[in-house]
Amino acid sequence: MAEASLFGKVALVTGASQGIGRTCAIELAKLGATIALAARSADKLQAVAAEIAASGGTAEAFAVDVASEDSIKTGAKSILATFGKVDILVNNAGITKDTLALRMKLADFDEVLRTNLTGAFLLTQAVISSMMKSRWGRVINITSVVGEVGAAGQANYAASKAGMIGLTKSFAREFASRNITVNAVAPGFIQTAMTDSLSDDQKAAILAQVPLGRYGADTDVAAAVAFLASDAAGYITGHTLDVNGGMYMG
Ligand code: NAP
Repeated sequence: MAEASLFGKVALVTGASQGIGRTCAIELAKLGATIALAARSADKLQAVAAEIAASGGTAEAFAVDVASEDSIKTGAKSILATFGKVDILVNNAGITKDTLALRMKLADFDEVLRTNLTGAFLLTQAVISSMMKSRWGRVINITSVVGEVGAAGQANYAASKAGMIGLTKSFAREFASRNITVNAVAPGFIQTAMTDSLSDDQKAAILAQVPLGRYGADTDVAAAVAFLASDAAGYITGHTLDVNGGMYMG
């Protein structure tokens, strides 16, 4: 991919305070995009913004809670006022609240759906008119292999991630006429804070299902996001790109 191929573009990345979102933001900044970093922890976002600035990029932090419609509306308004547009949206913010289905509380089911799925829906709705005006746009939703195959103890998370795939395909159909592509990236087991909390037994069981024989890195996911954001991916829409070491071959 050409250096600075995203020069002049504005990319909004949610869940950019750590893990996959942080690495996606850094990668898109390396390619020349101006970055709006969103998550709840303003301090952590400031640190990522400083890191991007230190490497010659441009980024600004916006405290946004994607589980709150008000926060999404205020955040989107502030980002659009600051940068004038959003060209690339990476809906990456996500949480887990794992437990077996029989024990799962409605509140934990709802919170995961509201954060992972409703948040992506509302934020896309809040910035899509900017992409429509530009007649160019990229929406990239970070789903999960769990949304494709399910997982015991993750009914809420799997439902939210499977929902994101349906959302991606529907949005892809709705916005295609405006030259906006909408795709999903489905990571497998990536080493981040989210997966560090799994037990050694759980980690070993997952690794046994990965033909490439290693956990993924956040840079593996960021490379897929950078590709889908690029002009090279301009004829790809409604697709779910698996980044899972062969764990699931759809
Ligand atoms: P992580 O390290 O736990 O980071 C999650 C990010 O989401 C943080 O920046 C967090 O920031 C943000 N976030 C959580 N709730 C939020 C909210 N209500 N509003 C705004 N931001 C919120 O997770 P990760 O492993 O990097 O995962 C990133 C995405 O990849 C998630 O959607 C996850 O489901 C998906 N994924 C991960 C894996 C994996 O193996 N790690 C595999 C498949 C898919 P704040 O706490 O500051 O808000």
